[in-house]
Amino acid sequence: MTNWQLVVHGGCGELRLSPEEEGIGRAGIGAALDAGAAVLAGGGTSLDAVEAAARVLEDDPAFNAGRGSVLAHDGHIELDAAIMDGRTRAAGAVAGLTTIRSPIGAARAVMEHSPHVLLSFGGAEEFAREHGLETVDPSWFEIPERRAQLARVLASGGGFDADVKYGTIGAVAVDAAGHVAAATSTGGLTAKRFGRIGDSPLIGAGTYADDRSAAISATGSGEFFIRAAAGHEVGARMRMLGETLQQAIDAVLADVKALGGTGGLIGVSPTGEAAWGFTTRGMYRGRVSAAGRDVAVHDA
Ligand code: ASP
Repeated sequence: MTNWQLVVHGGCGELRLSPEEEGIGRAGIGAALDAGAAVLAGGGTSLDAVEAAARVLEDDPAFNAGRGSVLAHDGHIELDAAIMDGRTRAAGAVAGLTTIRSPIGAARAVMEHSPHVLLSFGGAEEFAREHGLETVDPSWFEIPERRAQLARVLASGGGFDADVKYGTIGAVAVDAAGHVAAATSTGGLTAKRFGRIGDSPLIGAGTYADDRSAAISATGSGEFFIRAAAGHEVGARMRMLGETLQQAIDAVLADVKALGGTGGLIGVSPTGEAAWGFTTRGMYRGRVSAAGRDVAVHDA
């Protein structure tokens, strides 16, 4: 039997936070760890655990996923998510959702109830509704800080803010049977063009899970993670170069950086390795296993 483990992230960036803000973020990560750990400790699957953890973070307005998502340049919110089962490499993803409360739930429905991997915009909305996913008014996702953030980015010429916080959320887990799974959910980047799809819902970029290597979730400047095929590349390095999970994560983050991008990755392997890395000043992250849990924001 493998020792189960769950790792989550709540995005990365400069993260110059007030003690109060940091406390709220840490509490959110802790709640997600608890939700996923309850599944794994009860003998549940890594797939159920990453979905449970991601749903908690989607509902938490402190993070850029579900409620609290960032706004596109036209002022709307478009949500992306993906989930992948390392046991079978089954995967499901959605992009451009506007009324589905849990994009990760919708991604799982795509995986389990359609022959497709990625559905987007109107087609994804319709599919999620048909499969009984809870809907909310688009205003439910919006919090005032995000509108102010959009105004600041647009006033600065629409470029990306140096103090940007990538608030995407992700979860990766290995269960007692040694199967891995990954989930990522996001509102994308502040002031993105509407219709833009980032790395999070792209299997092999922001999300990947393979029992032959690892489960991976990314946060950061998505375009660069797409170009690096980051999630898949971590697993490929492990399988073909024999690197450890930590070595592979560090190498892929260095590659993303060389392309001009920035961000972080979390991962777990079927043998129970857990690792993370980030090229920003901080990353909201946490880890839990039967041995206990810890939550961190900056380097120790
Ligand atoms: N990677 C996400 C994207 O580019 C953003 C984030 O990590 O917050 O859509």
